[in-house]
Order: sequence, then C-alpha cells, then structure tokens
Amino acid sequence: MHDSHLPPDLFAATLTLLEELTAISSASGDAAGLERMAARLAAELAARGLMAEVRRGLGDAGGNPIAAPAGGGSLPVVLARGPVTAPAATAATADAAATADAAAPPAPEVPPDAGRLLLIGHFDTVLPAAAPRRLGDRLVATGAIDMKGGLATLCGALDLLARRGEAPPAGLLVVAVPDEEVGGELSRAAVARWGATARALWVLEPGEPGSEAGSESLVGGRRGLFDWRLEARGKAAHSGLHLAAGRSALLAAARWCLAAVEGAGALHDAAAGAPRAARGGGPAGGRTSVNVGRLVAGDATFVTDLGAAHAWLGTERQLNVVPDRAIVEGEARFATAAAGEEVERRLAALAAAVGAATGTELVFTRGPLIPPVDARGPQRIWCDRAVALAAARGWRLEVEPERGGISFPNFLVEPGRIPVLDGLGPVGGGMHTRDEHVELASLARRIVLLADLLAEEGAGGRSSTLIAAPFAMVRPGSTPVPRRTAPGPGTPRSRATPPRPVRSTTTAPPAGGTPDRRP
Ligand SMILES: [Zn+2]
Repeated sequence: MHDSHLPPDLFAATLTLLEELTAISSASGDAAGLERMAARLAAELAARGLMAEVRRGLGDAGGNPIAAPAGGGSLPVVLARGPVTAPAATAATADAAATADAAAPPAPEVPPDAGRLLLIGHFDTVLPAAAPRRLGDRLVATGAIDMKGGLATLCGALDLLARRGEAPPAGLLVVAVPDEEVGGELSRAAVARWGATARALWVLEPGEPGSEAGSESLVGGRRGLFDWRLEARGKAAHSGLHLAAGRSALLAAARWCLAAVEGAGALHDAAAGAPRAARGGGPAGGRTSVNVGRLVAGDATFVTDLGAAHAWLGTERQLNVVPDRAIVEGEARFATAAAGEEVERRLAALAAAVGAATGTELVFTRGPLIPPVDARGPQRIWCDRAVALAAARGWRLEVEPERGGISFPNFLVEPGRIPVLDGLGPVGGGMHTRDEHVELASLARRIVLLADLLAEEGAGGRSSTLIAAPFAMVRPGSTPVPRRTAPGPGTPRSRATPPRPVRSTTTAPPAGGTPDRRP
C-alpha cells in the first residue's frame, strides 16, 4: 500500500494514527470531543518537534482574545510553530494545554509570526465518529478525508522528513480550527489573521480523483462569490378592469433573472472562448455563474409581510391584482477579481435596462464579497512544482484551476499576495457520509508529496524555476522575513476594501448571512 518512497513501517504508523484520530468523535459543536481532538493533535505535533499549544478561540499568546467570534471564542484552536530544536521547547504539551484556559501564560520565546509558512486544517467533522474500519484498499472512517486524513498526512510527512534526515522549513505555523463545517467564524478569522503576514498558505483539505485512473488533483484556484439582491417595484392594478395600467414587478424580476443567468453564461463563453454548447462540463477557465436563489413577488403586503401572508398561497387572495413588488436573492461566482467586477457591473446595468423597458423600478445591490483565489496567481509556480514532484514519484497530479466551493484560501484578505497550495490532503470519497473513506494509496502518495514540498520549501527551492519565483525563500537558519506585500498579478482588491456592499443603487443592504455557509 505504501510506495517505494515511503518506508512501510512509517506508513503503517501514519495509518494507525489516522484510525485513532478518526475514532475520536469531534463533530462540530461537540465541545468535549473537540477538546479531546485538539489535545491529541497538539500532542502529535509536539512529538514531531513543533511548539504546540491549544488556545481558546484566537486569543494571543498572552491569552488576550483577538476578534473572538461570537459563539466560537471558547472552542479550542491548535497552533504549532516550528521547527524547534530542543525538545524542551515543546513547552505547551497537549495535556497542559488541554487543561489550560485562555489566560494561560505565554509560552516562552514565542517567535514572531510574520513570514511563516501557514499550514491550515480543521479537526471538526460533520458527523460524530463511527468506528473506523479497513475495507480493502480503503479506510472507512469519519473525517477520513475531510480532513483528519490531511492532518495525518502532515504528521506522516514530518516523520518522513525526520527519517530522511531533512529539516522541515523554517517558520512553520500549523493552525487547526474546530469550526470549518459550521459557519467557520474561527476558520475565517484564523486565515485572515495569520494569512496576513504568512509567506505562503498550504491547505490540508482533500484533493479529488483526477481525470485518469490513479491521478489526483490539487486545487490551484477557487472561485469567489458575492450575494446579491434585486428589489422590484411596479404598479398594482385590478387585473380585470385595468390590466394595462399595471406594471408587474414579478414579470420584470423574472425577466431580469432569465437575462442575468443567460448573461453570466455569455460572460463565461467570452472568457473561455468556447462555444455555448461546450460550457458547463469541465474546468474551463473563467467560469462565471449566477444562481437565483429565491424570488418572492406579489402584492406589496404579501411580499413585505410574508411571514403572515404566506397563508394566502393556495387561495384566491389577490390573484386579481397585478403584483407591484418583488424581491429576488441569489449569488454570483467567478474565477477572477476582474470577472467578479464585470458580472456585478452587468447585473446592475441589466436592472436599469429591464426597469426602463418595463416601467418598473429595479434596484440591484451587491452583498458581501468573498474574493476568488486566482489560479494564475503566485501559486502557479508551486502548483507546477508539485506536479513535477508527483511525477518524479511516479504518479500524475493535476491542477484544478477553479474549484467552486468556498474554503480557507478565500478568507485571505489578499488571496493574490502569497502562493496558495490547496487540496494537499489525500483523496477518497463519501465526504460527510457514513461511507467517507480515504484511499490508502493516496494517503501514501500525499505523505511523500507533502514531505517533498516541505523539503523543497525548506531548501529555498532547488530548481531555478522556484528561485525565480516572485517571492523570497526562507533558508534554514535564516530569520524569516515578511514576504513582499505589493499586490501580485492575481491580487483582486486591496485589503482596505471591506467585504461589504461597495456598490449599490439602494440604501438598504441585503440581509446578509455568513458568507461561508456553502462550501
Ligand atoms: Zn474540510
């Protein structure tokens, strides 16, 4: 099950670790289970030469809460920095950390976090744990890929580096959060905070099976999204007596919806240079989509007091009135910042055009924005390197240019500033179900790949390609320095831009929710 680059005993130990991690029930919201999991994870990282601690929320080393999100402030977060040379420096052992509260004294000589290689993962699962079981070439277990598999892969990679006598990169910072599967307040805050000064972000979420047998994927980019709302106001009229005097907000909104969805398709076609019929299948570049999530329309009383007025559904109430009010809500997804701006501009212009054509007033508002991670950003060179490293080990790694789901990298304030390697965890299937499993062959591959990548990063890049990368490397023994902060080619917008409505033709922001509710 191991490959020739991975000692069998090391693979067996990693697999055993994964079985033990997945046997610890740590469903989101299970505070006691999350504590057990955090303590175990911290202990494993400490045993591998990292200075590990368990914090409550995102409090700083002095125990001061930093932007502790509502409801998430007391959940455990695992932080591990390294590598440290003296075992004594693993001051905060998991046991000590697990019993310490948020006001625990700071660990001695906590190094600065600027310029670190940030490895991020989560240790909550959707389901409570069921007993893990091996089934042929698979391990069926809760969180086997999402994402205790990624955490075990990291431990195995650190073990493999030690076995080879190689050092992990200087300035490693591992952060594992307890709430990714539910809203992810801590997940977002952790990425925003530590990602702001990191030199790179590596994500231990699972890859996907690739296009051919035995191939697997890495995530090169993730689409961003924004919520939007359309409010339509028309003119009510009796449908039997004065139909022509009415202006249907419902019909105007519906017309806008159809054109918005079709227009997004046209945007995609233009970006991809592909005929319409070719759209929607594969990971073509620049995919822009608009989803109409809900439409409520009717008499203004019905729309504005829907909670009570929904009882009118199925009755004849107001069926003889031209509807004068409509509210539509949805989202748009896009692969680049420019595509996001373009689709926003088009949706707003469409509202003006449909309003003028129908004699109604259409107001388009953009809601919270989650920036895309552009696959053409600074990680492209690292993705290429990962592909080459996998090939050198005899397997095929493919890069997904624009995975649709929102994940950790989208929470970077400036996703284009640093290279992001995403989807480093092993491949399997059945995510979030009782059939969730990891392919053991993939676990072995990913251990070796992550070890190779860590060694490469730690060595400052062996190839001329990497040395030519537009970001400085940290060499072992040197002081980690903050990476460049100038926007890269993929920088979608400045960090000063708040993720709130920035362009609106109305004064009322849409009812917002947490933007990460839909992976
Ligand atoms: Zn996950």
